[in-house]
Amino acid sequence: MIVAMDGPAGAGKSTVARLLAERLGFRLIDTGAMYRCVALEGHRRGIDTFAAGAHEQLGEIARTLPIDFRFLDGLNRILLAGEDVTEAIRTAEVSKAASEVSAVPAVRTALVDRQRILGAANDCVMEGRDIGTVVFPEADIKLFLTASLDARSRRRVVQSGVHASASAEVTREIADRDARDMGRAVAPLRKADDAIEVDTTHLELDQVIDLVLGLVTARRS
Ligand code: C5P
Repeated sequence: MIVAMDGPAGAGKSTVARLLAERLGFRLIDTGAMYRCVALEGHRRGIDTFAAGAHEQLGEIARTLPIDFRFLDGLNRILLAGEDVTEAIRTAEVSKAASEVSAVPAVRTALVDRQRILGAANDCVMEGRDIGTVVFPEADIKLFLTASLDARSRRRVVQSGVHASASAEVTREIADRDARDMGRAVAPLRKADDAIEVDTTHLELDQVIDLVLGLVTARRS
């Protein structure tokens, strides 16, 4: 069974997907982490996403980079060629770079192929931006998590521990990322026609989990 979970940055997808996967005993595949790994590796190799020839190089990285997901101590760790990069891929710099490399067609083609192989091998919760529209349009159930820009920004501030005075900056970063993710030519972020929209603006985490677990269980039976 494949549970596709899409939505904009900060809507709570990662936490909800992780808890949902745990409760169902499914594998969790965080596709955003894969784009982040490509961005980190590109940065380490000094590749400028907008330079001539960069798209081919980034496509090659996306095809060949060894990326692994491991559950350790209840956390979904991300390994890049054996190195634990779970924290390194979460910086604001890598977030911006990930959203830039994710607009490169060669990167998307390579990662979508890899995601389909991963998804076909396991019952999984796969989270991202285009899972219900492109990667698995035949997914058993499609969830689209949203929340107001304000709510998403507030949660990011709390999660990342930055000072509340930086909240305007965080809001701007999220709004910029939304614009890039929704405005790109290839696989833009959008809700699949048959996805169930879950607006988490006024819900506590427990309520969201109960809601989505109920939806998945109903679909399963
Ligand atoms: O989900 P997360 O914020 O970690 O994703 C990082 C970036 O990767 C997003 O801003 C988006 O541009 C890109 N992404 C994507 N398609 C996916 C998952 C993530 O384009 N399926």
